[in-house]
Amino acid sequence: MIEKSIYENYRIDFSDDITPTTGDCLFIFNENRELYLDSNKQLPDSLENFDVNFCLYIGEYNDKKTFVANIKSDEEFFNLKEVYDLDHDLYLMATKAVLVNDWYISHRFCGRCGTPTLLDEKDMMLKCPNCGQNHYPRIAPAIIVAIRNGDKLLMAKHSYHDNIRYALIAGFVEPGESIEDAVHREVLEEVGIKIKNLKYQRSQSWPFPNSLMLGFTAEYESGQIKVDGDEIVKAAWFKKDEIIRYGTDISISDWLIQQFIDSIGNH
Ligand SMILES: [Zn+2]
Repeated sequence: MIEKSIYENYRIDFSDDITPTTGDCLFIFNENRELYLDSNKQLPDSLENFDVNFCLYIGEYNDKKTFVANIKSDEEFFNLKEVYDLDHDLYLMATKAVLVNDWYISHRFCGRCGTPTLLDEKDMMLKCPNCGQNHYPRIAPAIIVAIRNGDKLLMAKHSYHDNIRYALIAGFVEPGESIEDAVHREVLEEVGIKIKNLKYQRSQSWPFPNSLMLGFTAEYESGQIKVDGDEIVKAAWFKKDEIIRYGTDISISDWLIQQFIDSIGNH
């Protein structure tokens, strides 16, 4: 699923001057970043009956004018992972829409001086009329890497998962470092080994809450696995039959693991 481009069904645009009419496409989020779907689990085509905080035009999805709106509501909405299970294409578009929603909610006031911001006429940008600061949507680059050693894959237990389980090494890019630096640093910090043959594979927008995941493969070079016991509680090398899968292909992590398994074949 992650091979699919959002632009297969979407044409990017942005405006706050265009207002929706019945039949348009509406991505309506509540304050918990959950998406409203009607009783047929479809996007609604009207904002009637909703108490709307804001509504922004974001282009055309499936050839329909498309909007992001935010409402206050106690109704039952669908979280993004539920949306993925219902409809992969819809999820892909919702990952864009929710980031627009988050950006607008988070920058109504300038983070630098506190003045109410103004929406730019052309770009998705909120400007501060007082200090001149521009506020763009925030995207946090992060790396994830599948490290192999012969026919084995390195996986680690991260303490921050709700239900602690084995996963690939991943982490955020720090200011001032390259993406490649980030991979080598994270691997050394989390499991104490050095890697070689680092290769970029592909990326994925990961709106939990606002990452851009950059996926890599690498090979073990040297060192003994040593975990910090804090962020990583355990790490080990797994043969393909020993890897536990979690039944969803929503993430680039699953894609990287699948690539590893496919590369081993039936050996
Ligand atoms: Zn300001």
